[in-house]
Formats: sequence, C-alpha cells, structure tokens
Amino acid sequence: MSGQLHPEDFPELRGGLIADKELAPFTWLRVGGPAELLFLPKDEADLAMFMAQKSTETPVFVLGAGSNLLIRDGGLPGVVIRLGAGFGQMQVEAENRIRVGAAVPDRVLAKFAAKNAIDGLSFYAGIPGTIGGALRMNAGCYETETADVLIEAVVIDGLGRRRIVPAAELDYAYRHCSAPKDWIFVEALYAGTPGDPAKITQKMNEITARREQSQPIREKTGGSTFKNPDGAKSWQLIDAAGGRGRRVGAAQMSEQHCNFMINTGGAKAAELEELGNSIQRSVLENSGIELEWEIKRVGSHGE
Ligand SMILES: Cc1cc2nc3c(=O)[nH]c(=O)nc-3n(C[C@H](O)[C@H](O)[C@H](O)COP(=O)(O)OP(=O)(O)OC[C@H]3O[C@@H](n4cnc5c(N)ncnc54)[C@H](O)[C@@H]3O)c2cc1C
Repeated sequence: MSGQLHPEDFPELRGGLIADKELAPFTWLRVGGPAELLFLPKDEADLAMFMAQKSTETPVFVLGAGSNLLIRDGGLPGVVIRLGAGFGQMQVEAENRIRVGAAVPDRVLAKFAAKNAIDGLSFYAGIPGTIGGALRMNAGCYETETADVLIEAVVIDGLGRRRIVPAAELDYAYRHCSAPKDWIFVEALYAGTPGDPAKITQKMNEITARREQSQPIREKTGGSTFKNPDGAKSWQLIDAAGGRGRRVGAAQMSEQHCNFMINTGGAKAAELEELGNSIQRSVLENSGIELEWEIKRVGSHGE
C-alpha cells in the first residue's frame, strides 16, 4: 500500500470513502487483501467529481459483484470503486429498450425485462454479476452474450468525463471488451424484442435449473476459471489432464464442474492462483493448448 491516499483529501464527496477496507467479503471467492481506499459514490455526479479530482497516478479498480474476481492476498493499491443504489435505476423506453444502471444485478434486469414483456435478456438470469461487470466481461451464456443485445453504454472516463459509447465501439469479442481500463460503466441501453412474460419466465427458470444441476453455484467460486479456447471446452481439457478435483491447500477444482475453482474454506488467494497455474501447466503438457484465465486476477501478492 502506498499509504498516500486519505479520505480527508476529498471533502466534497457525498459517497463513503473508507481507508484500508477488507474486500474479501465483496467477492464470491472470499479471498484477498484490503483496498487502500474504497469509494462508494452516491451517484454519477459524485463519481465524476472524484475521477476529475484524483491524481492521474492513482490506480483505480471497479468492483462489481466480485463474481469473476481473484483479489490477491496483498490487496489493491489506490482506489477501489463500488457502485451502489445511485446506479440502480431501470426503465423501459420505446421499441422494447431498457435503460439500466451498472449496479443492477444481471438477474434483476432479466426479471424486469420478462415482467415488461421484453424478450432477449433471459440469459442474464443465470449470471450472478452486475451490469457493469457484464459490460466489461461481455458476459453471456447459452449462445447469447452482452454484445448481442447492447445498444450503447454510458461511461465515466479516467478524467471524470461522461461518454456515451455505441456497442460497436467497444469492440466486443468472447469475454473481452476493448474499453480503456480506466473507463467506469455507469449505465447501459439494451434492445430486446416483444415477448410473452410467461414464456420468458419459463425460459429463465430452465436456465437456472440447468445451472443448479451443472455448476457449484452455492460454493465460493469465480465461475469459469478459464475461457474456452477456439473449438474446445476448457472443462474437457482440464478433465483429460487430470485436473478434476485437484487441490492446492484449501483451493480445489470442483468435482461437479472442473473449470470452476472453489474456496473450500479458508483458502488464500495464492493457493487459488497456484491451483489455476498448475491446471494451465497440466493442460499444456497434455494437449498443447494454453488456457487463458477468464477470472480476473488483481492486486499484489503480499508477503
Ligand atoms: C456461479 C457463477 C456462474 C457464472 N456464470 C457465468 C456465465 O454463465 N457467463 C458469464 O459470462 N460469466 C459467468 N460468471 C462470471 C461472472 O458472473 C461474470 O463475468 C460477470 O459479468 C461479472 O460481473 P461482476 O459484477 O461480478 O464483476 P466483477 O467480478 O466484480 O468484476 C469483473 C470485471 O469487471 C470489471 N467491472 C465491474 N463493474 C464494472 C464497471 N461498472 N465498470 C467497469 N468495469 C467494471 C471489474 O473491474 C473486473 O475487471 C459466473 C460466475 C459465477 C460465480
């Protein structure tokens, strides 16, 4: 930690600023050290003011629901930003469009769309992140991804300026978005198609039932550890390389879905990362394919 950031340096902000804040409870894997400073902006104006005031040298990281994150044991230097209620709006616009704040959980948007007879967003029912995380990760499942339904995103950039960015400019690919690292998504505009609420709800129920069966969704996990390489499935490569159920300390590749890693209780971030690295090595030796992490690993390693 640099120890150079203090809440009293930003007296005009209306949102909370907390020094040395533990982050593990905000993540699904429940590991990782503290944030040097955690900022909980009240609303978009508060966030923009902070971004304009902070030094350009200060590292900034945005935390969503922490469902795709491995925060290392040494924690995160600089400022971690977590969007809250001030980014929780949802409204229907003309032509089956929905405008939604970045802190809204994906599954809340899916339900809202169903209630409003808007089809096309039901895939979000099975993804445990927020809209901000979905925009950054191009989250998706069962043949649909965020880029397919997004019209535009609203961001606050590294200097606190508001930008409206058409989806095409985000250069989306499989679990990838080319937006600059310091852009913070604050809002999205989606386009759906007219649908029948009962049928959409049924589709959502099927998605959640399928997941209950195939994924360890009640464990401390980060979802898919690795992206699927072109033409292959990571779980099959991991299985073939003997990775199913492999353990490093309290970190384990799930027996149920061997591309999901789990914290079986009290794992260190270092154990989870070493487990992933060992899986990568085994898959490379066994199949010649280099798996790419899908989980974002951030922060410093600590002692
Ligand atoms: C049980 C389980 C099942 C999963 N299933 C799927 C699945 O089917 N499909 C899928 O795609 N993913 C899946 N995931 C992974 C995860 O849910 C998605 O990647 C999700 O989009 C992450 O959103 P989040 O809010 O949790 O982001 P976080 O994990 O908090 O962050 C992920 C990345 O997004 C960035 N980010 C978050 N919010 C913002 C913002 N407002 N502005 C800019 N950047 C931001 C973070 O900085 C980080 O780089 C699963 C995870 C779990 C635990």
